[in-house]
Amino acid sequence: MPETPPEFRYKRVLLKVSGEVLMGDQPYGIDMKTVASVAEAVAAVSREGVEICLVIGGGNIFRGLSKAAGDMERATADYMGMLATVMNALAMQAALEKIGVQTRVQSALTMNAVAEPYLRRRALRHLEKGRVVIFAAGVGAPFFTTDSGAALRAAEMGCDALFKGTSVDGVYTADPKKDPTATRYDRLTYQEVLAQDLRVMDASAVALMRDSGIPIVVFSIREEGSFHRALRGEGPFTVIGSQTS
Ligand code: UDP
Repeated sequence: MPETPPEFRYKRVLLKVSGEVLMGDQPYGIDMKTVASVAEAVAAVSREGVEICLVIGGGNIFRGLSKAAGDMERATADYMGMLATVMNALAMQAALEKIGVQTRVQSALTMNAVAEPYLRRRALRHLEKGRVVIFAAGVGAPFFTTDSGAALRAAEMGCDALFKGTSVDGVYTADPKKDPTATRYDRLTYQEVLAQDLRVMDASAVALMRDSGIPIVVFSIREEGSFHRALRGEGPFTVIGSQTS
């Protein structure tokens, strides 16, 4: 396996970005300016040799558990949510290719006209060749979310860390947008996140990262250069791992 580029802490990482981040300041849908800025952040580290897997959520378009789903059967609504993640993956692919980054989209739901089917060994080859691999459609099953898809792919790809890019720069004691006294944790254990029900990622995703020993780094993707800095170990962020120190 190639060496970790000197500046960086990790050789291969998975970046999970929720669909909501892609809305930018819009109330709904895809803001291509925001997609372009996430693509720039990914390109900056990919060009320096970090291998990047990407998982994009679908919450900016459709979620199974939402008002928009009405009384639709949950499984059907969830499949619609998975289709939303494919749209976001294609938008991200377009933005990355526009700035010269080689990408492949692999979908957990077969959709041959727009994406490769998910094939673990092929995805590994893409990463070795320096391509950014975008995993779409989560785990390909209803009753899950893209957090679980991100954790599953991070484990399968042997990632050194799972980066969760959100609109907040880490995990706080309370919602910092509502409570000005809230403080950010520098480190947390998987167990603390699960026991205190801290809403960082789904419990199933956190448990899988715990069992695989893969740290989760929660940081704000909205700040310019933050992904590059977080990969070099420069905060602000919260790291979730097996020990608090
Ligand atoms: N979804 C699913 N199985 C998966 C991944 C996603 O059923 O493996 C559906 C689910 O309805 C979910 C929606 O797709 O609400 C969009 O994904 P998610 O809510 O994770 O998006 P995010 O919150 O990250 O934008």
